[in-house]
Amino acid sequence: MPQKPGRHFLQIPGPTPLPERIAQAISRSTIDHRGPDFAQLTLSIFERLRTVFGTTDPIAVYPSSASGAWEAALANTLSPGDRVLFCTSGQFAVQWSKVATRFGLQVEDLVGDWRFRVDPDQVTAKLRADPAIKAVALVHNETSTGILSDIAAIRHAIDRAEHSALLMVDAVSSLGAVDYRHDEWGVDVTVAGSQKGLMLPPGLGFNAISQRALSAAQEARLPRSYWDWAPLLDAAKRGFFPYTPATNLLFGLDEALTMLLEEGLDQVFARHLRFAHATRSAVTTWNLEVYCRDEKGHSPTLTSVLMPQGHDADQLRKLILERFDLSLGTGLGPLQGQLFRIGHLGSINDLMLCGTLSGVEMGLDLAGVPHKRGGVQAALNMLAVTSGHRKENTGD
Ligand SMILES: *Cc1c(COP(=O)(O)O)cnc(C)c1O
Repeated sequence: MPQKPGRHFLQIPGPTPLPERIAQAISRSTIDHRGPDFAQLTLSIFERLRTVFGTTDPIAVYPSSASGAWEAALANTLSPGDRVLFCTSGQFAVQWSKVATRFGLQVEDLVGDWRFRVDPDQVTAKLRADPAIKAVALVHNETSTGILSDIAAIRHAIDRAEHSALLMVDAVSSLGAVDYRHDEWGVDVTVAGSQKGLMLPPGLGFNAISQRALSAAQEARLPRSYWDWAPLLDAAKRGFFPYTPATNLLFGLDEALTMLLEEGLDQVFARHLRFAHATRSAVTTWNLEVYCRDEKGHSPTLTSVLMPQGHDADQLRKLILERFDLSLGTGLGPLQGQLFRIGHLGSINDLMLCGTLSGVEMGLDLAGVPHKRGGVQAALNMLAVTSGHRKENTGD
């Protein structure tokens, strides 16, 4: 296909637009992954990565998709037949639970209403009823629905039940964009990936690992080799890997961490919240429905938009891609066709968001989807009164 003029708008909720700084870092010549320069690079990466995860615990970095890091979390801590409580608030939690089933684990489903956060009271009730559950797993920011669950509340729910289950959290589409606290929230394994808040191309998977999870790994009997934490963490202490790492993605990660810490994590989180707000004001002005119905559960990194009855979300997406060179997220699993997802995460600014929302509004018009005009204007108004500039934000 001939290339279109201007630039493509990649506004799916991950992978996110690749910043020029990161693209340049990745394009450097590959270095010896057993040499001194490499060790220096990774040790500096690990230190700053811990800040982003909110932890002092070790972090395993895999050359893999985030799905690989899901598998690593389970394979390192559990044994065949162990019961795992999966709290599903969307399709990604379902996909993760399928990995567990394939590993011979017994999945207990806590199926919530996908339009609301995971309910901590139900978690407590499930755990009280089943003292043998070995782990509780959930997704922090459900990328399929646009719901942000409250991990601190889930931690309290486990503690209220006086239960010893490990807490495993998928933070793939929140880490680096939404406040996340592995240590403070008592998370045992945090799963993450490179292509969302961390602004990198796909290809790195992460596990942040608590001391309790490390102890569980000593007893766990599921087979593991590539995903085994022990050789990885041992080599990482010296800045190395037991196999060839994704060296050039690590160059990119180094730059991404510099960018996040330069902007300041609090500022990064505030920027995403502001974009989510502006996007919701556009959607409600269009008279369309935001999928999330939980006032406190709106995702800062993406917004899922329900189509009116009789209109197909994927037809709208196709038209918007062809006409405006703008990619929006499809509905996943049972939600396919019913909704589309606007990604507003990673290295984006006010005008990139406005361009995205303009593409959606023009697309709604062209596709004949019933809506009220003025969504983009509502977002502009919202962005104007909440300047992203640090000084004005803090009022000094
Ligand atoms: C994107 C995503 C994944 C899967 O990541 P892959 O790199 O495609 O394996 C898992 N969980 C969540 C919440 C995601 O957003």
